[in-house]
Amino acid sequence: METIPAISVVPWAWARLKACYQYWLSLGPCLWCLQSKCEPQWLCADCQCALPRFSPQMECANLLAYPGVANHIAHKYLDTLLVLSPYQYPINHWISALKFQRRPDYGDLLGVLLGEYLQQLYGHASDQISAQKPPRHAGQKALQPDILVPVPLHWRRLKSRQYNQANLIAQQISKLCNIPLSNTLLTRQQATTAQVGLGGGKRRRNLRGAFMFNPTHPLPEHVAIIDDVVTTGSTVNEIARVLKRHGVKTVSVYCVAISCNL
Ligand SMILES: [Zn+2]
Repeated sequence: METIPAISVVPWAWARLKACYQYWLSLGPCLWCLQSKCEPQWLCADCQCALPRFSPQMECANLLAYPGVANHIAHKYLDTLLVLSPYQYPINHWISALKFQRRPDYGDLLGVLLGEYLQQLYGHASDQISAQKPPRHAGQKALQPDILVPVPLHWRRLKSRQYNQANLIAQQISKLCNIPLSNTLLTRQQATTAQVGLGGGKRRRNLRGAFMFNPTHPLPEHVAIIDDVVTTGSTVNEIARVLKRHGVKTVSVYCVAISCNL
């Protein structure tokens, strides 16, 4: 009889434990209004409807098409920017709690919300997606990336926060949309100083050389960078610059919120 090596059981058991915990959390009260609910979802039906979000229509979802965004953020190396919501309540509150109050459950919630938004964009539910199923139309294939890459954290930041918030979000998207996730294509070499309060030029200089491409990783054609919030676009644009310099053809950004007006 074939035996499973003990070392491979640990991540499997951890994933099962986490899935059970997430299911248990989703049965509790709505994370926004705190009312009890029957459905195994993070938010009640009313809060789902009330949530601020951008249109999930393919024609208007790429925010780079809007001058209010294109003139405000760095996007020279970006092809597509898909965002769930403006940076406003309650999304801003959840992102802040995720990053600064050690609430990884909000990462799961935001990942599910962004994943469901992307599913709507792709035009079909997760149970219809499979590696064997041919794309419904050419646009869908062009939109869907080969791989998800969460914005990497420097190991020192990771040690103090204990998780990468972009990775938590990416894990949910990966599960819902059936897109592989990679944490090894890029690494963060430098612990950049906080970007808050820096102008565009200073942010770019602050980020130069911050990200290292892994040349031993299979080269994807289309990468989607996953982040919690886009403010000036400097970080994702720098990552896209590094990816394209190493041969990636298309770089999209999937983000929970954006802090500028359309
Ligand atoms: Zn609610």
